[in-house]
Amino acid sequence: MHEASIALSILDVISERCNAEGYSTVESVRLKIGRAAGIMPEALVFTFDAAKHDTLARDAELVIDIVPLGGYCVRCGGNFEAEDAYVLNCPLCGSADFKIERGYEMEIVEMEVK
Ligand SMILES: [Zn+2]
Repeated sequence: MHEASIALSILDVISERCNAEGYSTVESVRLKIGRAAGIMPEALVFTFDAAKHDTLARDAELVIDIVPLGGYCVRCGGNFEAEDAYVLNCPLCGSADFKIERGYEMEIVEMEVK
């Protein structure tokens, strides 16, 4: 499963950072995931919880902020956000000439450590 390998790489990043900085416990990890990133948050939390037991993050809670798809339209100049995982036309004027700027990201925003 796609989310399982993401959960494992998040755990890797966390462990590396804790080892480098001398922390032994992770209390929470906050992620930013774009709506169009193709990641199911529930599946990611599930696999993270299943994989964390032998790691520094065994007590960590994975918190996920969903970033809506967003961009701007070349024709009308408007900025827009979309609830869906894809946009076919500018929601403001219907043009297909638009640029997507947000909604594909997947990054660790912060972690609380001890
Ligand atoms: Zn437009």
